[in-house]
Amino acid sequence: MENKEAKKYLVFSAHPDDLDFGCAATVAKLTSEGNEVIYCVLTNGEKGTHKVDQSKKQMVEMREKEQRAAGAAVGVEEVIFLGEIDGNLEHTPEVCKKVIRVIREVKPHIIISQDPGNQTFDNFYRFHRDHRVTAEIVFDAIYPAAGSKAFFPELVEEENILPHQIEEAWFYGTERANISIDVSQTIAKKIDALRCHISQFEDFDLLEKHVYEHAGDHEEKEKMTHAERFRRISF
Ligand SMILES: [Zn+2]
Repeated sequence: MENKEAKKYLVFSAHPDDLDFGCAATVAKLTSEGNEVIYCVLTNGEKGTHKVDQSKKQMVEMREKEQRAAGAAVGVEEVIFLGEIDGNLEHTPEVCKKVIRVIREVKPHIIISQDPGNQTFDNFYRFHRDHRVTAEIVFDAIYPAAGSKAFFPELVEEENILPHQIEEAWFYGTERANISIDVSQTIAKKIDALRCHISQFEDFDLLEKHVYEHAGDHEEKEKMTHAERFRRISF
């Protein structure tokens, strides 16, 4: 669909599958409306298994393949992997530079990521260390670093990768949502995306039930049957 208002979105997550839980139905809606969406996954996700017979290399390859298929299921053609070690993500200048490079090269209007504002530690999945660190790295990369030549000037001087200022950030998996996206028409695509993560789940029917329940549990039921919720901040 041609859309003159089309925007470019860049979605970050710590592991393969985080962003599918967080926003795949919204991504399906955005791409169906003619927007471009690109994914960037910080870690390899190689520890996301209880199967000890899998080698690390096999696991990395499998999870990349699964995430690319999940992206394709919702209209995402490009998935960038930063290759950090699952469970050991650190907020270092090196990792920040990688994230800033991606933001400056992709030049999105809007970044979607995990929420650095989540601080209650009342849920083990949500507060996985890699999720917290990813949320902070992306937040710090957005402002001020990605838009300022003063940060990592060598990217400009040596590679002509120019600073880029985004318009908005949307945080998924948030505890303080301020926007709801009506995904009633695309929630089935989210299930398709989640079903691509074959290495991660055993009971996909139960997973589907939980996803529908979660998407139906919001405060705007009169306006939309299923929603994904975000905390949006603008510049
Ligand atoms: Zn995760």
